[in-house]
Amino acid sequence: MTMLRELTEAPGVPGFEAPVRRVIRKYLGGLAEIEQDGLGSLICRKAGTSDRPRIMLAGHMDEIGFMVTLITKEGFLKFQTLGGWWSQVMLAQRVVVKTRRGEVVGIVGSKPPHILTEDERKKVAEHKDMFIDIGAASEAEARERFGVRPGDPVIPVSPFEPMANPRLLLAKAWDCRIGCALFIDTIKALADIGHPNTVYGVGTVQEEVGLRGATTSVDLVDPDVGLALEVGIAGDMPGVKETEAQTKLGQGPVVLLYDSSMVAHPKLRDFVLSVAEDQKIPTQFDAMARGGTDAGRIHIHKGGVPSLVIGVPCRYIHSHSGIIHLDDYENTLKLLVAVIRRLDHAAAAGLRMD
Ligand SMILES: [Zn+2]
Repeated sequence: MTMLRELTEAPGVPGFEAPVRRVIRKYLGGLAEIEQDGLGSLICRKAGTSDRPRIMLAGHMDEIGFMVTLITKEGFLKFQTLGGWWSQVMLAQRVVVKTRRGEVVGIVGSKPPHILTEDERKKVAEHKDMFIDIGAASEAEARERFGVRPGDPVIPVSPFEPMANPRLLLAKAWDCRIGCALFIDTIKALADIGHPNTVYGVGTVQEEVGLRGATTSVDLVDPDVGLALEVGIAGDMPGVKETEAQTKLGQGPVVLLYDSSMVAHPKLRDFVLSVAEDQKIPTQFDAMARGGTDAGRIHIHKGGVPSLVIGVPCRYIHSHSGIIHLDDYENTLKLLVAVIRRLDHAAAAGLRMD
């Protein structure tokens, strides 16, 4: 729980993932050999009894957020979105600006309903009209007294909190600190048991702006099998049809069959599903017409790497607060450990397409 709190509360928008690196280093120091690539992706190597097959477990460290682009004369901040936001969930949300001199709290300003015109009420506000209010009286105060300057990252504020049912956890940035937590816990679990391969837990950078950290880190890892650890889009809420999002909290790990960056490798998919069956771990399927994951880059590395996305279902991703179920986390972890224990030379060779 402490680790999940530290991971989700760490402020780390694309390109500014250092706080997340620190948390991962804290938990894996001593258990894995850790190196970084030139963009900041963290590569944590846990050797088993054989150098190959190499299994890359990728969880992206970045979360969606913003960057200051301009300070108005009146002291308000204009910003660039980092990652995919629906503007309706941004209004009136609390954020923190990380400056050279420390953190400055702010809020995405919005008009009270009393002064909205009929037309404005019906429309979704656009990013370009939004601003962040940090309580500065002028540009000079924002710059000089608060230390804000263009280029500073802006991070959603949303504390980690177990809900009334303590198996449900509310936090920001499950996308994809849950993936980071999964490779940390997998490597910790493997410390006590043998595995016939080498595992690389990779905290990738800049996934939300175009899978960039996976593109660079996969080169250093040179894996034989890729598993992207992600959130699944839970659809168990009012107004979402099963045809839009079919996974539900508490019903098990999600195997992603398709997204716009990858078609799941059929043999790896079946291998994982058969391990889940043996272990009596429930699984769910999902397919996304839009969006991609780190596996989208890993699977086209060099001559091609069998890859799959395994996810923990999460409600309300890409907003200030998401909800996951601990049962799903634990089952996904159990599945990963079981898959890795079986992925020896022969099993990896068996993934070759007919
Ligand atoms: Zn995302």
